[in-house]
Amino acid sequence: MSAAPTLDLDKIDFAEKDVRPVVIAGPCSAESEEQMMFTAIALKQAGIRVLRAGAWKPRTKPGCFEGYGEQALKWIVKAARCCGMLSATEVATAAHVYAALGAGIDVLWIGARTTANPFAMQEVADTLRACSRNVPVLVKNPVSPDLELWIGALERLNKAGMTRLMAVHRGFSSYGEHNYRNSPIWRVPIELHRRLPDLPVLCDPSHIAGRSETVGHVAQQAMDMGFDGLMVECHCCPSVALSDARQQLTPQELEELLRSLKLRKRPDPSSADIMALRSEIDRIDDRLLALLVERMNVSDEIGRHKLREGMAVVQHERYNDLMDRRAVQAEDAGLNPDFVRSLIATIHEESVRRQLGIVNNG
Ligand code: PEP
Ligand code: MN
Repeated sequence: MSAAPTLDLDKIDFAEKDVRPVVIAGPCSAESEEQMMFTAIALKQAGIRVLRAGAWKPRTKPGCFEGYGEQALKWIVKAARCCGMLSATEVATAAHVYAALGAGIDVLWIGARTTANPFAMQEVADTLRACSRNVPVLVKNPVSPDLELWIGALERLNKAGMTRLMAVHRGFSSYGEHNYRNSPIWRVPIELHRRLPDLPVLCDPSHIAGRSETVGHVAQQAMDMGFDGLMVECHCCPSVALSDARQQLTPQELEELLRSLKLRKRPDPSSADIMALRSEIDRIDDRLLALLVERMNVSDEIGRHKLREGMAVVQHERYNDLMDRRAVQAEDAGLNPDFVRSLIATIHEESVRRQLGIVNNG
């Protein structure tokens, strides 16, 4: 493991270490002056001090709503100032930084796709240095679980004189269907905290969950793991949101969520480790289940082939061969061969049951 960098950090005024959780909330995108104003008023009533909204949206495909740009900055700043809140937006280029700071945005965040791109990170860092403005900057994790890339992005900003930094865990993208839009890998932010203990770490349960119904569950997990705060997507009318409609809460829902959060005293590192390891186990079990589905689908395909060819369902040589090979492989890999034999036998039995259904029912 490479040596821990020592970031030179200042305390962030809206995030005193003893105020937990720090909550930053607001819509995915700023869509109009009215939407920002309605949302900000309700969030202020819910006790939120920092209003977020995207002005430029990094979308996966062209042709989607990509944000209203500089016009949106005016709505964000106006709504925040009217409500006595701080404003936050995402920047990814030098032009974004100049425009956001010029419009009076108080807090910047770096999106997951930008953190993953060292050229873009250096451009943002150099621009911030040129502006001589030590604004708070939140750095989301990169899209893939690469801790060094995340730390590298923080270091680039810190070397450019930015000392008011925070990290945000927003989950990692992966191939295929999952319970999460971006799966959390809690070990990564926990390791980040171990390497950079003075850096506040927030969680973005909205981009992890991807569905408003499960945002609360993820937020509670983050609190249980000792995160310093949350960045939550919140819209005055989520169903008509122009981006990420599925995952946004209403300000009232956020208020309820915050009221229901159980705040535990900071867990000792060993219990945080156990929770991170358990969530790792949950993730592996998710993958095991997905693999079982994939295996059963292939086995069904073989069943249809056997039906067409009039073949018997159980081929004993194949079964014996499968068992012997896996038992040897298990032993080589340090697994108990009897356990692996019985696991394969159970899986095989289910495959046979499904194939019998196929050949008998056509
Ligand atoms: C966002 O916060 O709206 C956003 C685009 O986040 P991320 O970079 O985490 O996808
Ligand atoms: Mn979003």
